[in-house]
Amino acid sequence: MGVKRNKAAPRPPGTPLRLPIIYMLIAILGWCGSTAWGNPSDPPAATRGIIAIDPGHGGKQNGSRSPQGFLEKEICLALARQLAILLEPDFRVILTRSDDYDLPLTERTGIANHHRADLFISLHTAAGFVPAASGIAIYTYKPAAKGPGLDREPSDASEVAVWHLAQLPHSTASRNLALLFQQQFEAMPGAPAVQTGQGPLVVLAGADMPAVLIEVGYLTHPATAERLNTPAGQILYAQAMARAIDSFFAARRQSAQP
Ligand SMILES: [Zn+2]
Repeated sequence: MGVKRNKAAPRPPGTPLRLPIIYMLIAILGWCGSTAWGNPSDPPAATRGIIAIDPGHGGKQNGSRSPQGFLEKEICLALARQLAILLEPDFRVILTRSDDYDLPLTERTGIANHHRADLFISLHTAAGFVPAASGIAIYTYKPAAKGPGLDREPSDASEVAVWHLAQLPHSTASRNLALLFQQQFEAMPGAPAVQTGQGPLVVLAGADMPAVLIEVGYLTHPATAERLNTPAGQILYAQAMARAIDSFFAARRQSAQP
């Protein structure tokens, strides 16, 4: 967001600093309105629903790294922004992270719950031991049979046990959502291989809405990394995701009709 900064006119001595303070307040309020938290006075852009997009990692957590040096945290944020642009005409979009900073896993879900989002979509990339590893994976939540989850937070297993009760009622809807993403990704140029799976992912456990974690590709695959790092490539992924979200809401509307 670009805020033009005009040079202030010279202030006669003794003139109170009221105007600059008012400008500052306007600037701060404007900034708040464009953050992940939104602004309660915003007009209701959410005609069809509220989508929480969670760009993985951030801050000190770089995530995976491509051979060219592209970072997962940056790719995920760029993808989230592209997806938000596509969705915003029809949906209210919440980004759990709107810049490069650390954000605990449970806070990400907490933001989605706070905004009563209809969907929670956590974006990640994968890393392989060999450069040839490629493909897309979509995960939904499934409680661990025993022991800690795939993620390391919260470390207290009993906390996970309570937290995951939020996601369990949405298991079927989450799997349906995963299948819609799979269909749309498979229809992308190059027809990437797309897998779905389930796991005790802490970032999904507390989501009180259908929720998926998408690994959009292997950053260790040089061509995929290149594609994910360009706006043209990101738009392809974002379009596929936006179509899947559209289909989810279309199906929900149909099933709600008498
Ligand atoms: Zn990740």
